[in-house]
Amino acid sequence: MMSNSLGWTHLELQAELPDDALPLMSSEMAVMQSKDKIHAIGSRLKNWATLTLQNPQAEVKMGQSIKEWTMNQTRWIAITAMLLAVAGVSGAPAPEPAAVYTVTDEALLPPGEYYERKVPATLDLAERARVAVHGLTHMLNDKDLYSPFEHAFFNTDPPCMSRVFGPGRGCWSKLTEATLLARLMSGTEEHLDIQRQSLQNMLAWTQFDGITPMVRALSTCMTLHEQDPDPALRQLIEKMVSSLHETARHDGSMSWNYAQDGAFADSKLGVIGWGWNVFIQGNALRVLSRYADGRGADDALPLARGLKNFLLQEKFWKPDGAPKAVVPHERAQFAGHHHSYTAALMGLLRYAEATNDRQVAEFVRAGYEFLRGFGIARIGMFGEMCTTGDMTFLAIKLSEMGVGDYWDDADCYVRNQLAELQITDAEKMLRAVKAEPIFARVDPTRPDGIQQLKSDVQEERPLHEVDDTIDRVIERTVGSFLSDSGTPTCIPKHRFLATVCCTGNCVPALFFAWDSTVRFQRGHAQINLLLNRASPWLDLDSYLPHQGKVVIENKQAETLAVRIPGWVALDRVTARVNESAADFFMNGRYLHLAGLEPGDRITIEFPMVETTETHTSVWGQQEFWMESTNPGHAWKPSPTAYSFRFRGNTLIEVSPRCEGNLYKLYERRALDTDEVTMTAVRRFVTPISIDW
Ligand SMILES: [Zn+2]
Repeated sequence: MMSNSLGWTHLELQAELPDDALPLMSSEMAVMQSKDKIHAIGSRLKNWATLTLQNPQAEVKMGQSIKEWTMNQTRWIAITAMLLAVAGVSGAPAPEPAAVYTVTDEALLPPGEYYERKVPATLDLAERARVAVHGLTHMLNDKDLYSPFEHAFFNTDPPCMSRVFGPGRGCWSKLTEATLLARLMSGTEEHLDIQRQSLQNMLAWTQFDGITPMVRALSTCMTLHEQDPDPALRQLIEKMVSSLHETARHDGSMSWNYAQDGAFADSKLGVIGWGWNVFIQGNALRVLSRYADGRGADDALPLARGLKNFLLQEKFWKPDGAPKAVVPHERAQFAGHHHSYTAALMGLLRYAEATNDRQVAEFVRAGYEFLRGFGIARIGMFGEMCTTGDMTFLAIKLSEMGVGDYWDDADCYVRNQLAELQITDAEKMLRAVKAEPIFARVDPTRPDGIQQLKSDVQEERPLHEVDDTIDRVIERTVGSFLSDSGTPTCIPKHRFLATVCCTGNCVPALFFAWDSTVRFQRGHAQINLLLNRASPWLDLDSYLPHQGKVVIENKQAETLAVRIPGWVALDRVTARVNESAADFFMNGRYLHLAGLEPGDRITIEFPMVETTETHTSVWGQQEFWMESTNPGHAWKPSPTAYSFRFRGNTLIEVSPRCEGNLYKLYERRALDTDEVTMTAVRRFVTPISIDW
């Protein structure tokens, strides 16, 4: 165990690090790339840290376009501590394999049937999942147990991936679960060998210490157990749940696995506040509640209740200004990191579902609506893509629990930011990478792969053989998600990054939407989202946003309810079963049909609606993405009123656009037509269901 100059041990630091300190780290990387005296990573990391500590009031310049940031001493020490912890992880010998469960390719490929179909060439989440499996398995480091690179940088030329600027392997278990979910959606047989090795190694690496990487590993195992009920896997699940109990601390009605004072210092992301406390307990609560719910394991509920009580403490729920007559800790208002608080809200909601606790569910609804006020919810733009993924979970779960009807929110998030920020076009990426300005150049002809940094960064650093790679980075990241969710028209170069946390949260969001598109119980099918979806009960073909039309090929449904989107005038809806006008009735926004037979073809139509709407973002393009509700004392809003044109919930066009040759968003001319092209696809249908 090594000790650094601050007298902290690497191990202690590691234990204190939440895995989603990662978004913080990504922004610091952008700072570091341009900070003229900070150049050491990898082997020079410690020197850099020492340098920084000697100069805590460092003024940071990011090219010419970024305003100066002053980082206070606390913040730098925290960052330095994280980096040292990462250095400790990087230098550690490989752990002894400890898993008794052996992962096989057969276990990873879900059972199911494949068939060919011609469908409208519109947003297809199963196809997005197939591509996601590629991204999830190729952002991995084949020189280090197929653990993730933490970041892909597209503001260097050529682009590079690095694991240095993140909390080691903290997101690994999140990626392994995302890969399982994406394979359930798509049935793809690609890259099983990489997934198998990565998952096996992750299980061997994961420590039973009760904090976030372990509970996500537990979540992975629970998902995998649905398709591979191996007793060894079951034992592993039980062991992880036991360790959560063993490491929990208790005081009165509260339980927790991690507690630290909130960091209320300003940073370029805003005020982080109590983020790590609520994040870590929130993740544990979500997984534990899912475990208790699925197993009827009442003995897990006391700890879940203790975590819930910990999370509901008044001190965590103090917003940056609230109306005097509002009681913020009863309305889930807060000051802090968006994605950390969504983790808390997701945990609380899953607890409310497992225990039928309506008061907690209402608390979460209030928190969801509070956070929905930041950014531009109409397209799912909340600062960082992790939050978009989490908000999708909340919108769907709140709707399915009957706490509110947020299906249109989920539809907006999926059709816009989630669809738009997934990397699907390597050529478009390459064009944006090649556009100036860039923050670093990499010269692969030099024997040590020296990265020649631009003039504002005066020194260079070697690419580390294991920690960094410039090997086919664009090709390998196709299917993963870009992280910036702060400007609706482009990704500014200093934010042109993919951090693995976002892919780890957005792929599950695609799954939640795909999964909840159709529900089926005792002969009754319910369609909640008008997205393409193959299922054992029916196949849904969506013509949106070109035409207001869906076609349902029935397999098993006797009765059917179809939610009609909020933008449709209900008196304009028509339905046919085969060639005859159907006898249907409306209940709220759901269209109901009865007397259906297998093989029936149901066509529902309504007029497409175009709207032009103004939504204003106050986040500046020159800033880093804003992922805190409290942007700090020095921050001033930079309002830009954007004009959006929608077809239904799909954004078609937005202005004013960014200047310059950046990565442009929402160039959707192809969607702006009534014409629908059909495409041949291979459909996959699995009987496996996940109680997420
Ligand atoms: Zn993220």
